[in-house]
Amino acid sequence: MAETLIKVDLKQSPYDNDKIHNRWHPDIPMVAMVKPGDDFIIECVDWTGGQINNNDSADDVRDVDLTKVHFLSGPVGVEGAEPGDLLQVEILDIGAFDDSQWGFNGFFSKQNGGGFLTEHFPEAQKSIWDFNGMFTKSRHVPGVEFAGLIHPGLIGCLPSKEMLDMWNTREKALVDTDPDRVPALATLPYADTAHMGQMKGDAAKAAAAEGARTVPPREHGGNCDIKDLSRGSTVYFPVYVEGGGLSVGDLHFSQGDGEITFCGAIEMAGWIHMRVNVIKDGMAKYGVKNPIFKPSPITPKYDDYLIFEGISVDEQGKQHYLDVHIAYRQACLNAIEYLTKFGYSKAQAYAILGVAPVQGHISGVVDIPNACATLWLPTDIFDFDVKINPDGPKKGVDGSVDVPLSPDL
Ligand code: ZN
Repeated sequence: MAETLIKVDLKQSPYDNDKIHNRWHPDIPMVAMVKPGDDFIIECVDWTGGQINNNDSADDVRDVDLTKVHFLSGPVGVEGAEPGDLLQVEILDIGAFDDSQWGFNGFFSKQNGGGFLTEHFPEAQKSIWDFNGMFTKSRHVPGVEFAGLIHPGLIGCLPSKEMLDMWNTREKALVDTDPDRVPALATLPYADTAHMGQMKGDAAKAAAAEGARTVPPREHGGNCDIKDLSRGSTVYFPVYVEGGGLSVGDLHFSQGDGEITFCGAIEMAGWIHMRVNVIKDGMAKYGVKNPIFKPSPITPKYDDYLIFEGISVDEQGKQHYLDVHIAYRQACLNAIEYLTKFGYSKAQAYAILGVAPVQGHISGVVDIPNACATLWLPTDIFDFDVKINPDGPKKGVDGSVDVPLSPDL
């Protein structure tokens, strides 16, 4: 059995665990050292550090403190890893804790976090998803059940000081273009709620003032939220500091492409079993700037999809130029509208797109002025016929009754 290098206690504040941190900084000390070829287990709290509870109220999502996220376990150093190398990380397995077989999905309020469809869903909402082996379903979103494509939403190596300075400079410049915007254009360093792992005293204070927030994906990987980075996949991370400094968190039981609900996928606490190796000078050898990964040999098998198209014309009918973000939003809104015809509330439909193994594709980016994005909704996740029929939509479970709506969604 592989050694568990980092343990977490879900009843304890993550600030009391010095093998957890919530900012990126090159000086955060390694909490453990391993050798190339070693495999080990790391335990993780959920990305909010226990701020969201298994109940039927979304008040905790509404009131979440987003300056605290994401709580990451690590960094783990790998002997011999040097800047310019690639750190090969095989994800051998991931699971939820025996006494925590559930996860959450939600939408932040527009005033505190926002999200992809925040103009359409400005209030905080939440659904709880229970795990049954590899399958999940929700008391808040009836009529769907699917296998989890379980993955870490956030994984990456520590940045160098030069890279950290570059991140902070370019993100500050973006925020300065519209400093009063709600939600903000980017999340800049914020010392008050920083957890710098095993750094102590004045050094920790100075690092907290410049430590990069964990929200965006960056050159090192980070919060990429790639649903296919599942059990059996292998990632190659650029190394920027001695030892690499691998940290991981934000485990997801399942997620749709885009993580459009932002809070987030099906978020969970749990453990991840990994094996590491070092490819010397791999960044130059393979021309790597951002991580590369190989998917798992095991992938979900869905033969049938409903595929919704969207183009870069917004909800007000305004024409945009090849804007994939707007095109994908239209594809999602079209799918939501469709699902309401089967008895779902719009919020339930939005939740399904955020958590189920839906695929998002950039289908065309050259046919001016419209980009075309598509959202692929697997029909087999529903326990009723969700397809188009000449007789019109057969509402609800077994085609007999309306899908019951939960009070919160
Ligand atoms: Zn997440």
